[in-house]
Amino acid sequence: MSIGIEVIAEKCLGCGLCVSSCPQDAITLGDGGTAVIGESCNLCGSCIKGCPAEAIVKQGASLETLDYLDTSHLKDCRDVWVIAEISDEKVAECTFELLGEARRLVVGTDHRVAAVLLCADPSGYPQELIRYGADIVYLIQSPLFRHFSDEPYKQAIVRLVHDEMPLVMLLSATAMGRSLAPRIAAALGTGLTADCTELELKPNGLLVQTRPTFGGNLYARLLCPGTSPQMATVRSKVMKPITPNSTRQGTVVEVHFIPDQERILAELVEFIHAQGEKSIEEAEIVVSAGFGCAKPEGLALVEELADVLGGAMGASRKVVDAGLISYERQIGQTGKTVGPKIYIAVGISGAIQHLVGMSSSNTIIAINLDPDAPIFHAADIGIVADAYVFLPKLIEKLKSVKKAECP
Ligand code: FAD
Repeated sequence: MSIGIEVIAEKCLGCGLCVSSCPQDAITLGDGGTAVIGESCNLCGSCIKGCPAEAIVKQGASLETLDYLDTSHLKDCRDVWVIAEISDEKVAECTFELLGEARRLVVGTDHRVAAVLLCADPSGYPQELIRYGADIVYLIQSPLFRHFSDEPYKQAIVRLVHDEMPLVMLLSATAMGRSLAPRIAAALGTGLTADCTELELKPNGLLVQTRPTFGGNLYARLLCPGTSPQMATVRSKVMKPITPNSTRQGTVVEVHFIPDQERILAELVEFIHAQGEKSIEEAEIVVSAGFGCAKPEGLALVEELADVLGGAMGASRKVVDAGLISYERQIGQTGKTVGPKIYIAVGISGAIQHLVGMSSSNTIIAINLDPDAPIFHAADIGIVADAYVFLPKLIEKLKSVKKAECP
């Protein structure tokens, strides 16, 4: 079905409002003052909204189904792929989240969920991927896959794509996914949407990819309508894994692939974890410091509260930008995404760019001096208080409760 913007001449008032509303300068007023749509029209629809006489319409289009777009190039593509990530000799939680999302996407279609697993030794990984939603696991084994490395991973996945032609490929927006996804997309000449927060598969096979834009103030819906596979990275803790099912059945397909070693210019020899600090992504309780408690004594109180609760300390970007806490601890759009059981925001105003990094937490507690702070809209429990006064009392109380429980 083709699409176009059409002017109903009988209705057109010749007012010219559509001319000024068009960001492409594609509209002129023709003979008799009727609007004429020129070739540079990109179908954005601004003129439809701008026309007081409802004289401009989109023909043949259903924005709901997107069936006006030609998707013939997708007719031989099948399945939703998840590129599995192994971390600390375990399948990473973010992979389970992607599998859960992939399962949701294929509901009502005949596409399968496939996990692509690159590793040196598969041990129980394939079965685990199946338990968490994979129908098929493509297993590519090589000693070169002991640690993640861009080049051999890219080579193997690109080869597999050429053989199997997936419809959609999902990667986590982790260090691995962010490094690998653009290389694969460039090698395949397809598009990639980074940091998606929502995905939807249309009946014609198009993947609608939603992600924050303009500094997190807007959400954009993106399509990759002309090429395949449709690739997206997804932030961890945004999608939900399914409940693992040990009776799920799946197929493991062993893929033989020998990477071209001449093109591998770097090798990861050993992965050394930072010592001491608890990771904010894994902690069940995260206590974050905002600029409202960024004095040294305030930061020390937030750290102490995190310690007493057995959690980890996070921070807003303003605190990180001020050089008071390392970037590793930053939560938000340009930091990390966390989804702990309890998130305590201390002296954080609640800017949208911060909220996108923590709003999937189970319970959000906000402590802020200003009763009108936006963070209170996101909070389950709001405490209007001066952090410097409130935190010492809270810490003292928690310590005494702990002491009473384990004297
Ligand atoms: P402020 O906005 O200054 O808020 C301080 C709060 O503390 C206020 O609400 C105040 O009422 C309260 N307060 C003051 N004194 C006390 C006290 N004694 N006790 C209790 N409360 C007190 N931000 C992020 O956090 N993460 C990101 O990843 C991120 N990415 C961004 C990306 C882009 C492209 C842009 C444009 C911005 C980004 N930001 C990010 C910045 C964001 O817009 C905010 O500027 C930032 O989150 C504000 O940090 P804050 O809440 O700590 O500070």
